[in-house]
Amino acid sequence: MTELKTGGSQGYLRIATEEAFSTPELIEAWREELELPDVDPGFQSLIGFYINHPAERPKFIYDRLADLGETRLADMDARGIDRQILALTSPATNVLRDADRATMIAETANDRLAEACRAHPDRFSGMAACAPQDPRRAAKEIERAVTKLGLNAVVINSHILGEYLDNPKFSEVLEAAEAMDAPIYLHPNTPPRNMIGPMLEAGLDGAVFGFGVETGMHALRLITSGVFDRFPRLQVIIGHMGEALPFWMYRLDFMHQAGIRANRYEFLKPLKKEKVSNYLKENFYMTNSGVAWEPAIKFTQDVIGKDRVLYAMDYPYQCPAEEVAKLDAMDMSLEDKKMFFQTNAERVFKL
Ligand code: CA
Repeated sequence: MTELKTGGSQGYLRIATEEAFSTPELIEAWREELELPDVDPGFQSLIGFYINHPAERPKFIYDRLADLGETRLADMDARGIDRQILALTSPATNVLRDADRATMIAETANDRLAEACRAHPDRFSGMAACAPQDPRRAAKEIERAVTKLGLNAVVINSHILGEYLDNPKFSEVLEAAEAMDAPIYLHPNTPPRNMIGPMLEAGLDGAVFGFGVETGMHALRLITSGVFDRFPRLQVIIGHMGEALPFWMYRLDFMHQAGIRANRYEFLKPLKKEKVSNYLKENFYMTNSGVAWEPAIKFTQDVIGKDRVLYAMDYPYQCPAEEVAKLDAMDMSLEDKKMFFQTNAERVFKL
């Protein structure tokens, strides 16, 4: 493998758009949450593993999540990553049952993130965390993060204590994101209690599969419940090659429309844009985080548009340098590669 360099000598900068960090306040709250009775089984499975397991991988990840300085920059240099778009790591505050504490941890994380971005303006940008458990304060924090801290997107780690963003109680959060022109990165969480059982039995609850199923469903709920008819300018980013939704598009359109025509569900109303796929093409961006796979990237570019597919690494969870080299070598025009690696991210995150 040839050495990977930053600086754009290959014809584009590499901007990685789903890169995680943690704060000491979040880790402390997670530890305490894990000790509480009736802990969420997905949270126990995921964070119980990462915090407490002695294996090399969780330790590597935990050390790197905490670093917003030299170690991270050295890792970026070694992998040819010019810029990371940082987000508070999943499930962030979504799993905390104390809404006040969740809100404060999100606010502190945004301050810490903004400080790191100020210290390394040519290497780091970020997305705002928020705790939708308190929708009013989450909306205010989105406004503060965009206008005062320069964080031009919002990360929400999928379900919030088992609730989904199409629930009208979260309308203020969506309204704030739309008003601030800040896309929401809908990052995976483990499936909630009433969904996770059979996945846990098979070891499929985490990033291996459960993440994608749960988050893909969340994205679809936003569409079918009419969120984008209520908030037409709202943009949502989903990772992991669109959580496989591009591959589902044909059947989603067919069966969704069949259900609408038959009036199968009283609550399911016709959509303004009619087809599910129209929303995927007009209200979603998709990143290839964790999927360094040329056919999947090209397929997604083909079905939702080259201007809507962005590069992401998923540091520090998945960060082999070989994956960067593989993507550099994709059989794709330089113009399209530049959109994928650089210019789409510059536009979406207003860099
Ligand atoms: Ca991730």
